[in-house]
Amino acid sequence: MRLPILRYSDPMLRAKGRRIDKIDNHIRELAANMLETMHAASGIGLAAQQIGEGLQLTVLDISEVQDRPSTMKINGVEVDPKSAMPLVLINPELELRGGAEIGVEGCLSFPEITGEIERPGSVVARAQTLDGEIEFEAGGLLARALQHEVDHLNGILFIDRLSSAAKAVLASRLKRLQKETQQGKRTRARDRQSAVAEPAL
Ligand code: ZN
Repeated sequence: MRLPILRYSDPMLRAKGRRIDKIDNHIRELAANMLETMHAASGIGLAAQQIGEGLQLTVLDISEVQDRPSTMKINGVEVDPKSAMPLVLINPELELRGGAEIGVEGCLSFPEITGEIERPGSVVARAQTLDGEIEFEAGGLLARALQHEVDHLNGILFIDRLSSAAKAVLASRLKRLQKETQQGKRTRARDRQSAVAEPAL
């Protein structure tokens, strides 16, 4: 089932997710619905906060992105990241590694808005999955997507990481989006999303 994606400045987007102690049917169903919602919106990541749940749960799938490569290592061995997609990560923890890289990011909660964000170029991720546990090293787009999603799980949004100059440029659009959200206006996410060249998370 597709779920509505909350937009900036819905207060739920600022909620820090609770740890998930038990992976029950509710969590399994939620993860399945989040995957369906993310794929329908042509997104590459979605956090529980974005569909109104304050939980440490996120889904990712970078397999459709051609022009921004990702790397993945499991137990030090290089694997094809696509073979591990989609990812359902529960209570994820990241160890940030590598030098800072600048990349463009979009977000499903900010239709048509993108910005350049500096983040470490690789991460080690540890998380529970629906089937057990996973630990891997990620680079490229996947590393960026993981950091974007884990930020969501802690109530942090990508606009918080924009330079003040970049945020000033986007100020009027952010204000407009905030107003639309407060007025409960909904635009068709899919139509809007198609206008964005960068993958949204
Ligand atoms: Zn996002």
